[in-house]
Amino acid sequence: MDIEWNHSRCIVCLNSGELTKEHVIPESLGGILTSRFLCCRCNSCFGAGFEANSRLAPEIRKAASGLGKDFSELKEKLELGAQYQSKFDEQTSKSKLRRDGHIGTSKLKDGSLIVPETDAPNSITSLMRKRGVADQEIKDAIAAWRAAPAGYTVNLGAGIKVRKWQGHPSIPTYDELPLSPLVPLKIAYEFTALLVGCAIYSPQLQPLRDVLLKQDKDLAGRMVTDNWASSPDVFHGIAFEGNHEVAQFQVRFFGLLAYTVRFPKIAVEHPPIVYTHRLNTGKEWAHLPDEVGQKPDGSTDHVGHLAS
Ligand SMILES: [Zn+2]
Repeated sequence: MDIEWNHSRCIVCLNSGELTKEHVIPESLGGILTSRFLCCRCNSCFGAGFEANSRLAPEIRKAASGLGKDFSELKEKLELGAQYQSKFDEQTSKSKLRRDGHIGTSKLKDGSLIVPETDAPNSITSLMRKRGVADQEIKDAIAAWRAAPAGYTVNLGAGIKVRKWQGHPSIPTYDELPLSPLVPLKIAYEFTALLVGCAIYSPQLQPLRDVLLKQDKDLAGRMVTDNWASSPDVFHGIAFEGNHEVAQFQVRFFGLLAYTVRFPKIAVEHPPIVYTHRLNTGKEWAHLPDEVGQKPDGSTDHVGHLAS
Protein backbone atom coordinates (compact mmCIF):
# COMPACT_ATOMS: atom_id res chain seq x y z
CA MET A 1 0.00 0.00 0.00
CA ASP A 2 1.02 3.54 -0.63
CA ILE A 3 0.61 5.91 2.33
CA GLU A 4 -0.03 9.48 1.34
CA TRP A 5 2.58 11.97 2.57
CA ASN A 6 1.22 15.49 2.91
CA HIS A 7 4.38 17.35 3.81
CA SER A 8 6.88 18.96 1.51
CA ARG A 9 10.24 18.09 3.00
CA CYS A 10 12.36 14.96 2.70
CA ILE A 11 12.21 13.10 6.01
CA VAL A 12 15.93 12.37 6.00
CA CYS A 13 17.79 15.47 4.72
CA LEU A 14 14.83 17.82 5.43
CA ASN A 15 15.28 19.60 2.10
CA SER A 16 12.21 20.76 0.25
CA GLY A 17 11.73 19.72 -3.31
CA GLU A 18 10.22 16.94 -5.29
CA LEU A 19 9.66 13.84 -3.19
CA THR A 20 9.93 10.34 -4.60
CA LYS A 21 8.30 7.04 -3.84
CA GLU A 22 10.24 5.08 -1.25
CA HIS A 23 9.80 1.41 -0.35
CA VAL A 24 9.91 1.17 3.44
CA ILE A 25 10.89 -2.52 3.21
CA PRO A 26 13.30 -2.64 0.23
CA GLU A 27 11.63 -3.55 -3.04
CA SER A 28 14.43 -6.02 -3.75
CA LEU A 29 13.22 -8.05 -0.75
CA GLY A 30 9.65 -7.95 -2.00
CA GLY A 31 8.49 -4.99 0.12
CA ILE A 32 5.38 -3.14 -1.05
CA LEU A 33 4.75 -0.53 1.67
CA THR A 34 5.53 2.83 0.09
CA SER A 35 5.25 6.54 0.69
CA ARG A 36 6.52 9.64 -1.13
CA PHE A 37 8.66 11.08 1.61
CA LEU A 38 12.24 10.90 0.38
CA CYS A 39 13.96 13.30 -1.98
CA CYS A 40 15.46 11.82 -5.09
CA ARG A 41 18.98 12.16 -3.71
CA CYS A 42 18.31 10.37 -0.42
CA ASN A 43 16.31 7.70 -2.21
CA SER A 44 19.10 6.91 -4.64
CA CYS A 45 21.82 7.21 -1.96
CA PHE A 46 20.06 4.56 0.10
CA GLY A 47 19.37 2.42 -2.95
CA ALA A 48 22.95 2.50 -4.18
CA GLY A 49 24.40 2.41 -0.67
CA PHE A 50 23.37 0.07 2.13
CA GLU A 51 20.29 -1.29 0.36
CA ALA A 52 22.09 -2.34 -2.79
CA ASN A 53 23.27 -5.74 -1.64
CA SER A 54 20.67 -6.46 1.00
CA ARG A 55 19.01 -9.16 -1.09
CA LEU A 56 22.33 -11.03 -1.31
CA ALA A 57 22.91 -11.00 2.44
CA PRO A 58 23.28 -14.66 3.51
CA GLU A 59 20.80 -14.41 6.37
CA ILE A 60 18.17 -12.92 4.04
CA ARG A 61 18.63 -15.71 1.51
CA LYS A 62 18.69 -18.40 4.20
CA ALA A 63 15.46 -17.04 5.65
CA ALA A 64 13.87 -16.98 2.20
CA SER A 65 15.12 -20.47 1.37
CA GLY A 66 12.61 -21.87 3.86
CA LEU A 67 9.72 -20.53 1.79
CA GLY A 68 7.81 -23.04 -0.25
CA LYS A 69 7.68 -23.64 -3.98
CA ASP A 70 5.19 -20.79 -4.48
CA PHE A 71 8.03 -18.38 -3.85
CA SER A 72 10.50 -19.70 -6.38
CA GLU A 73 10.34 -16.45 -8.36
CA LEU A 74 11.24 -14.32 -5.34
CA LYS A 75 13.92 -16.77 -4.26
CA GLU A 76 15.46 -16.74 -7.75
CA LYS A 77 15.49 -12.96 -7.69
CA LEU A 78 17.35 -12.98 -4.38
CA GLU A 79 19.90 -15.55 -5.58
CA LEU A 80 20.76 -13.80 -8.83
CA GLY A 81 24.48 -12.92 -8.81
CA ALA A 82 25.12 -14.83 -5.58
CA GLN A 83 28.36 -16.76 -5.24
CA TYR A 84 28.11 -20.52 -5.73
CA GLN A 85 30.72 -23.20 -5.50
CA SER A 86 31.15 -26.65 -6.92
CA LYS A 87 33.61 -29.30 -5.92
CA PHE A 88 35.55 -31.14 -8.60
CA ASP A 89 37.66 -33.85 -7.01
CA GLU A 90 39.77 -31.91 -4.58
CA GLN A 91 39.28 -28.59 -6.27
CA THR A 92 36.64 -25.96 -5.69
CA SER A 93 35.30 -23.65 -8.33
CA LYS A 94 33.39 -20.49 -7.48
CA SER A 95 31.20 -18.40 -9.70
CA LYS A 96 28.09 -16.29 -9.69
CA LEU A 97 24.57 -17.47 -10.40
CA ARG A 98 23.30 -16.12 -13.70
CA ARG A 99 19.86 -15.08 -14.88
CA ASP A 100 19.41 -18.36 -16.78
CA GLY A 101 19.93 -20.36 -13.58
CA HIS A 102 23.42 -21.52 -14.54
CA ILE A 103 26.62 -20.81 -12.72
CA GLY A 104 28.98 -18.66 -14.77
CA THR A 105 32.32 -19.80 -16.17
CA SER A 106 34.99 -20.28 -13.54
CA LYS A 107 38.55 -21.47 -13.34
CA LEU A 108 40.04 -24.28 -11.28
CA LYS A 109 43.47 -24.02 -9.67
CA ASP A 110 45.01 -26.24 -12.36
CA GLY A 111 43.94 -23.66 -14.95
CA SER A 112 41.11 -25.69 -16.46
CA LEU A 113 37.81 -23.95 -17.02
CA ILE A 114 34.39 -24.88 -15.77
CA VAL A 115 31.92 -23.74 -18.40
CA PRO A 116 28.13 -24.07 -18.04
CA GLU A 117 27.17 -26.92 -20.32
CA THR A 118 24.75 -24.90 -22.42
CA ASP A 119 27.48 -22.34 -23.09
CA ALA A 120 30.35 -24.70 -23.72
CA PRO A 121 30.28 -24.85 -27.58
CA ASN A 122 30.03 -21.05 -27.84
CA SER A 123 32.57 -20.41 -25.11
CA ILE A 124 35.05 -22.87 -26.58
CA THR A 125 34.62 -21.33 -30.04
CA SER A 126 35.20 -17.79 -28.89
CA LEU A 127 38.13 -18.72 -26.63
CA MET A 128 39.87 -20.61 -29.42
CA ARG A 129 39.14 -17.95 -32.04
CA LYS A 130 40.77 -15.38 -29.81
CA ARG A 131 43.88 -17.53 -29.84
CA GLY A 132 43.83 -17.79 -33.63
CA VAL A 133 42.82 -21.45 -33.86
CA ALA A 134 41.41 -22.55 -37.25
CA ASP A 135 37.71 -23.38 -37.59
CA GLN A 136 38.28 -27.08 -38.27
CA GLU A 137 40.37 -27.47 -35.13
CA ILE A 138 37.66 -25.71 -33.17
CA LYS A 139 35.07 -28.15 -34.52
CA ASP A 140 37.28 -31.06 -33.51
CA ALA A 141 37.72 -29.56 -30.04
CA ILE A 142 33.97 -29.26 -29.55
CA ALA A 143 33.48 -32.82 -30.76
CA ALA A 144 36.15 -33.97 -28.27
CA TRP A 145 34.40 -32.06 -25.50
CA ARG A 146 31.04 -33.63 -26.43
CA ALA A 147 32.52 -37.12 -26.44
CA ALA A 148 34.23 -36.74 -23.08
CA PRO A 149 32.63 -38.26 -19.99
CA ALA A 150 31.32 -36.01 -17.23
CA GLY A 151 33.95 -34.73 -14.85
CA TYR A 152 36.72 -35.31 -17.38
CA THR A 153 39.16 -32.54 -18.24
CA VAL A 154 39.39 -32.11 -22.00
CA ASN A 155 42.58 -30.67 -23.39
CA LEU A 156 41.42 -28.67 -26.38
CA GLY A 157 44.81 -27.39 -27.49
CA ALA A 158 45.99 -23.79 -27.65
CA GLY A 159 46.46 -24.01 -23.87
CA ILE A 160 42.76 -24.42 -23.15
CA LYS A 161 41.51 -27.11 -20.82
CA VAL A 162 37.84 -27.46 -20.07
CA ARG A 163 36.43 -29.63 -17.31
CA LYS A 164 33.23 -31.27 -18.49
CA TRP A 165 30.51 -30.21 -16.14
CA GLN A 166 27.46 -32.32 -15.85
CA GLY A 167 25.01 -32.34 -13.04
CA HIS A 168 27.63 -31.15 -10.58
CA PRO A 169 25.87 -29.84 -7.50
CA SER A 170 26.56 -26.20 -6.81
CA ILE A 171 25.92 -24.81 -3.40
CA PRO A 172 25.77 -21.20 -2.27
CA THR A 173 28.93 -20.10 -0.47
CA TYR A 174 27.02 -17.58 1.64
CA ASP A 175 30.15 -15.49 1.96
CA GLU A 176 28.51 -12.23 0.90
CA LEU A 177 28.31 -9.38 3.41
CA PRO A 178 25.61 -9.66 6.10
CA LEU A 179 22.66 -7.29 6.04
CA SER A 180 23.69 -3.78 7.02
CA PRO A 181 22.09 -2.65 10.30
CA LEU A 182 21.24 0.53 8.39
CA VAL A 183 18.46 -1.39 6.62
CA PRO A 184 16.36 -2.20 9.74
CA LEU A 185 17.17 1.23 11.18
CA LYS A 186 15.94 2.94 8.01
CA ILE A 187 12.79 0.83 8.04
CA ALA A 188 12.07 1.72 11.69
CA TYR A 189 12.70 5.43 11.03
CA GLU A 190 10.45 5.51 7.95
CA PHE A 191 7.77 3.55 9.79
CA THR A 192 7.93 6.16 12.56
CA ALA A 193 7.26 8.85 9.94
CA LEU A 194 4.09 6.99 8.96
CA LEU A 195 3.02 6.98 12.62
CA VAL A 196 3.87 10.54 13.64
CA GLY A 197 3.51 12.51 10.39
CA CYS A 198 5.22 15.90 10.38
CA ALA A 199 6.64 15.31 13.87
CA ILE A 200 9.27 13.22 12.07
CA TYR A 201 10.99 16.54 11.25
CA SER A 202 11.55 17.12 14.99
CA PRO A 203 15.12 18.12 15.98
CA GLN A 204 15.14 15.27 18.54
CA LEU A 205 15.38 12.84 15.64
CA GLN A 206 18.37 14.57 14.03
CA PRO A 207 20.90 12.05 15.48
CA LEU A 208 18.99 9.25 13.74
CA ARG A 209 18.89 11.19 10.48
CA ASP A 210 22.63 11.81 10.75
CA VAL A 211 23.30 8.09 11.04
CA LEU A 212 21.25 7.47 7.89
CA LEU A 213 22.73 10.42 5.99
CA LYS A 214 26.30 9.39 6.82
CA GLN A 215 25.39 5.72 6.36
CA ASP A 216 27.18 5.10 9.63
CA LYS A 217 27.06 1.34 9.98
CA ASP A 218 28.77 1.27 13.38
CA LEU A 219 26.34 3.65 15.03
CA ALA A 220 23.39 1.88 13.38
CA GLY A 221 24.79 -1.41 14.68
CA ARG A 222 24.48 -0.13 18.25
CA MET A 223 20.74 0.39 17.79
CA VAL A 224 20.01 -2.91 16.07
CA THR A 225 20.16 -6.48 17.33
CA ASP A 226 19.31 -9.46 15.20
CA ASN A 227 17.77 -12.78 16.10
CA TRP A 228 15.82 -15.59 14.53
CA ALA A 229 12.17 -15.97 15.30
CA SER A 230 10.49 -19.34 15.46
CA SER A 231 7.54 -18.48 13.27
CA PRO A 232 7.65 -20.21 9.92
CA ASP A 233 5.01 -17.80 8.66
CA VAL A 234 5.40 -16.13 5.30
CA PHE A 235 5.34 -12.43 5.92
CA HIS A 236 7.36 -9.27 6.18
CA GLY A 237 6.52 -7.20 9.21
CA ILE A 238 7.29 -4.00 11.06
CA ALA A 239 6.11 -3.49 14.61
CA PHE A 240 6.37 -0.50 16.86
CA GLU A 241 6.52 -2.35 20.17
CA GLY A 242 5.97 0.71 22.31
CA ASN A 243 8.38 2.56 24.52
CA HIS A 244 10.50 0.20 26.55
CA GLU A 245 12.47 3.08 28.07
CA VAL A 246 13.01 4.06 24.45
CA ALA A 247 11.04 3.47 21.28
CA GLN A 248 11.44 -0.15 20.24
CA PHE A 249 10.68 -1.73 16.89
CA GLN A 250 10.82 -5.15 15.40
CA VAL A 251 11.51 -5.64 11.71
CA ARG A 252 10.80 -9.12 10.38
CA PHE A 253 11.77 -10.58 7.01
CA PHE A 254 10.24 -13.80 5.66
CA GLY A 255 8.69 -14.44 9.05
CA LEU A 256 11.94 -15.77 10.43
CA LEU A 257 14.60 -13.14 10.43
CA ALA A 258 13.95 -10.56 13.12
CA TYR A 259 15.72 -7.34 14.03
CA THR A 260 15.04 -5.29 17.14
CA VAL A 261 15.68 -1.59 16.67
CA ARG A 262 15.88 0.80 19.62
CA PHE A 263 16.05 4.57 19.15
CA PRO A 264 18.46 5.96 21.77
CA LYS A 265 16.83 8.48 24.14
CA ILE A 266 13.72 8.75 21.99
CA ALA A 267 10.17 7.74 22.74
CA VAL A 268 7.43 7.76 20.13
CA GLU A 269 3.97 8.86 21.18
CA HIS A 270 1.88 6.26 19.47
CA PRO A 271 0.29 3.04 20.67
CA PRO A 272 2.11 -0.14 19.65
CA ILE A 273 1.19 -1.09 16.13
CA VAL A 274 1.98 -3.99 13.83
CA TYR A 275 2.21 -3.88 10.06
CA THR A 276 2.37 -7.15 8.16
CA HIS A 277 2.60 -8.02 4.51
CA ARG A 278 1.66 -11.60 3.77
CA LEU A 279 3.91 -12.80 1.01
CA ASN A 280 1.59 -15.54 -0.25
CA THR A 281 -1.52 -13.41 -0.71
CA GLY A 282 0.06 -9.95 -1.02
CA LYS A 283 -2.35 -8.74 1.68
CA GLU A 284 -1.16 -6.04 4.02
CA TRP A 285 -2.63 -4.84 7.22
CA ALA A 286 -1.79 -2.72 10.20
CA HIS A 287 -3.38 -3.24 13.58
CA LEU A 288 -3.01 -2.23 17.19
CA PRO A 289 -2.13 -5.22 19.37
CA ASP A 290 -3.77 -5.75 22.80
CA GLU A 291 -0.63 -5.06 24.74
CA VAL A 292 -0.25 -1.38 25.55
CA GLY A 293 3.22 0.11 25.59
CA GLN A 294 4.61 2.06 28.49
CA LYS A 295 4.15 5.79 28.57
CA PRO A 296 7.34 7.63 27.66
CA ASP A 297 9.16 8.67 30.83
CA GLY A 298 11.22 11.77 31.65
CA SER A 299 14.54 10.41 30.40
CA THR A 300 13.42 10.36 26.79
CA ASP A 301 12.49 12.98 24.25
CA HIS A 302 8.94 12.69 23.05
CA VAL A 303 8.33 12.67 19.37
CA GLY A 304 5.09 13.81 17.95
CA HIS A 305 1.54 12.78 18.11
CA LEU A 306 -0.67 10.57 16.06
CA ALA A 307 -0.54 10.96 12.33
CA SER A 308 -3.92 12.04 11.09
ZN1 LIG B 1 16.57 13.87 1.23
